[in-house]
Amino acid sequence: MSKKTIRDIDVSGKKVLVRCDFNVPQDENGNITDTRRIEGALPTIKYLIDHNAKVILCSHLGRPKGEVKKEFSLRPVRDELSKELGIEVKMADDIVGESAKKLTSEMKEGEVVLLENVRFDKREEENDEGFSKELASLADVYVNDAFGTAHRAHSSTAGVAQFLPAVSGFLIEKEIKFLGDALNNPERPFVAILGGKKVSDKISVINNLLEKVDTLIIGGGMAYTFLKAKGLNIGSSICEEDKLDLAKELMKKAEDKKVNLLLPVDVNMGKEFDKDTESKIVSIENMEDGWQGLDIGPKTIEEFTKVLENAKTIMWNGPLGVFEFEKFAKGTNEIAKILGSLNATTVIGGGDSSSAVEKAGCADKMTHISTGGGASLEYLEGKVLPGIDCLQDK
Ligand code: AMP
Repeated sequence: MSKKTIRDIDVSGKKVLVRCDFNVPQDENGNITDTRRIEGALPTIKYLIDHNAKVILCSHLGRPKGEVKKEFSLRPVRDELSKELGIEVKMADDIVGESAKKLTSEMKEGEVVLLENVRFDKREEENDEGFSKELASLADVYVNDAFGTAHRAHSSTAGVAQFLPAVSGFLIEKEIKFLGDALNNPERPFVAILGGKKVSDKISVINNLLEKVDTLIIGGGMAYTFLKAKGLNIGSSICEEDKLDLAKELMKKAEDKKVNLLLPVDVNMGKEFDKDTESKIVSIENMEDGWQGLDIGPKTIEEFTKVLENAKTIMWNGPLGVFEFEKFAKGTNEIAKILGSLNATTVIGGGDSSSAVEKAGCADKMTHISTGGGASLEYLEGKVLPGIDCLQDK
């Protein structure tokens, strides 16, 4: 079901409360080290300004755990926003207190006020009805544009929508379009690539994807649980012994659903879990005790590439090796480059896969890179995200 966006409602003269994701990284002096999340929010904010709304912004930053802590103040974000927008963004000293009430009641059309970190109040994460009501009382309309927290049912991400007409901003609209279309209406062949450390983190994702994809590629640490379940010696590679039966069940499900499940055929093994450790490439039949698989090997890259070259839709979540170590980043980098060179819809889940694609220098060649790690994973699991569910249907 598609959701209404700010384009579908009249915002002129209205006070619009926008939940943004301003959870930006900062150095020890409080300087913002990466402003992309702020830049990402600008199209929605500018649209609202251009359409004569009174724009009230809110977000969390870090984990202040319900207490007012200066180091988690949104003031540095206010400064950056003022710079980017070329207007003075006013900063409230609180979220729903006297300062916020005063500033928001005095607003003129086209003005912007930023509330303090919503997580300075412990009621935010409790999705407290009273707090949601107080937030709602500041505005006439609610806009959610924070995909990164859309899987959380908090006051500012979902609760407030009980008391105000609620629609999405452009960032969430884009996430729903690309993740949703790829998952539910993909151009085929549809290939998903899953990597990362553990099977246990991605059981629901694998289960859901097996209902949808033509090919499922599994790499990264979690591949070893599957390889061991197939009866191979995996040496000291990472393995979840208690998930061996589950891995067998998932392979059976793939077979029943006629999904082509691809595992590595060769791996780059290290003596230790260390960036400078001795390494060697072996086929999966020749993995030795005392060595651990830390990346996919060249034959695997070749085999995966053949399948990817024919795909029309590709979704990727999780690195295919320990990409933080240069020596074991090749598999992840090569696959990123291949995705960047293809004429297919390429959708990258947030978190590590996004960093991997950026590290490989092909971020701008992807169709869509999700802004939410946890949220995109829950989306892939087929879960309903409270921050999206609460918005009005078209
Ligand atoms: P996840 O958070 O589950 O997506 O896992 C990401 C992490 O998995 C990264 O930090 C990788 O270093 C790690 N990883 C990928 N492949 C392996 C492997 N073969 N052995 C150990 N860790 C791995």
